[in-house]
Amino acid sequence: MSQAVCILGVTGSIGQSTLKILQQHPEQYSVFAVTAHSRIDALIDICKQYQPKVAVVPQYKVDELAQKLKAAGLSHIEILSGEAGLIAVAKHPSVDVVMAAIVGAAGLLPTLAAVKAGKRVLLANKEALVMSGDIMMQAAREHGALLLPVDSEHNAIFQCLPSDYLDAERHGKPKLGVQQILLTASGGPFLNHSLEQLKTVTPAQACKHPNWSMGQKISVDSATLMNKGLELIEACHLFAVSEDYITVVVHPESIIHSMVQYVDGSTLAQMGNPDMCTPIAHALAWPERLTTHVPPLDLFINQQLNFQAPDVTRFPALKLARQAMQAGGTAPTILNAANEVAVAAFLQGQIGFTQIPQVVEQSLTTMAHAQANSLEAILAADQQAREIASDYIRTGS
Ligand code: NAD
Ligand code: MG
Repeated sequence: MSQAVCILGVTGSIGQSTLKILQQHPEQYSVFAVTAHSRIDALIDICKQYQPKVAVVPQYKVDELAQKLKAAGLSHIEILSGEAGLIAVAKHPSVDVVMAAIVGAAGLLPTLAAVKAGKRVLLANKEALVMSGDIMMQAAREHGALLLPVDSEHNAIFQCLPSDYLDAERHGKPKLGVQQILLTASGGPFLNHSLEQLKTVTPAQACKHPNWSMGQKISVDSATLMNKGLELIEACHLFAVSEDYITVVVHPESIIHSMVQYVDGSTLAQMGNPDMCTPIAHALAWPERLTTHVPPLDLFINQQLNFQAPDVTRFPALKLARQAMQAGGTAPTILNAANEVAVAAFLQGQIGFTQIPQVVEQSLTTMAHAQANSLEAILAADQQAREIASDYIRTGS
C-alpha cells in the first residue's frame, strides 16, 4: 500500500532530495503535505508536480500562495499557516511518514508533534533533537514513533549497529558488544586554514562545501565544525551513549559516513558516494531498501581515504558542544540557539567567522543552565539564549 508523506521544509536541500527519491517510487509513496517558509514559486512548482493535499506557509505568505495556486489551477490544495499549520500536518491522521527537514529550532514543535503522533519520522532537523534530546527520545518510545536518522553520519552508525540495538535498554553506555562510535567529519572548506586566515573568510566561501551541496546554515556549521558538535549531541541521544563513547574523526573525502567499533576488534563502516539521497532512501524504506540514482562506490577511483584528529584550537565549536553535552540540562539548547543567532549574523556580515564560536561560548558562560525536563524550560532557554547572543553581537560584551 502507498505511504503518505509529509515533507516539512520541502523547498530546502533535504526537501528537494526527498522529492527526488519519492519521484522514483510513485507506486510506494504519495506526497500528502508540504511546507515552505519563503520560496513560494518553488513551492508552486512542487505543488504542480506532486499534487499534495495540503501546503503550509507562514501567515503573511498565505495570500500570495492562494493567488498563485489559483492561477495554476490548484485551488483544491488546502492552505494552512504558521506553526499551528506545521503541527497539524506533522500529526495528520492521513500521514504515515514525516520528513523533518526544517532548519533550526523552528522545526522543534512540528517534529515533536510527529513523534507524539507515533509517525515514522525521518530526522534531518538535528537542531530539534539537540534542543529537546531526552524529551524527544522519550516521546518516541512512549508513542511508538520510529525516529530514523537522515543525517548521513547517524544513518551510517544506525546501519553499522546490531539490528536490535535501539530496542535494548538505554543506560548511557554502549551495549551488545559496541565499544565506540567513530563520527566522521569532512572538516569543511577551511580544514587547512590557519587561525589568521579563518578571521577573514566570507559567507560565500563558508557556504561552498567541498563534498556536499546543502542549505546555508548547515554549510556554515560544517565550516566551523559546529555541525559536528551538534551531531555529537544528536548521536548521544539517538544511540543512548554519553559523549565520551564518541570520537570525531576528520575524513576529508566523505566516503566513509561513520563507523562503529566492537569489543572484538571489529570496525564496521558504512561507505558510499556523498549524496543525501542514500540516507533518505534508507530511512524511508528501512528495513527494506529502495533504488536511487546514486552510483555505487568505485574504489578504483576513490583510492585514497585519509583520516586525522580534529583541531579544536582552530575549530573550538566542537569542544563547546562536547562541554555542553557534558553539562547537560539546557546547555545544548543554549549552544544551539546562540549558534543560530551567530550564524545568521555572520551570513549578514555583522560578525566575522571566528566570532561565531565566541558568541556561543559567551552565551554558554553568561547564562545559567537549568534542567531540560519540560518543553517550556527548553523554549524559555532558547529564547533567553537568543537575546543574550544578540546583545553580545550588538554591544560586544
Ligand atoms: P535549507 O536551508 O536548504 O532548507 C530549510 C527548509 O526549512 C526550507 O524548506 C525552508 O523553507 C524551511 N524553513 C526555514 N526556516 C523556517 C521557519 N522559521 N519555519 C518553517 N520552515 C522554515 O536546509 P537543509 O540543508 O535542507 O537542512 C535542513 C535540515 O536538515 C537542517 O536541520 C540540517 O542541519 C539538516 N541536514 C541537512 C543536510 C544537507 O545535506 N542539506 C544533511 C544533514 C542534515
Ligand atoms: Mg551530517
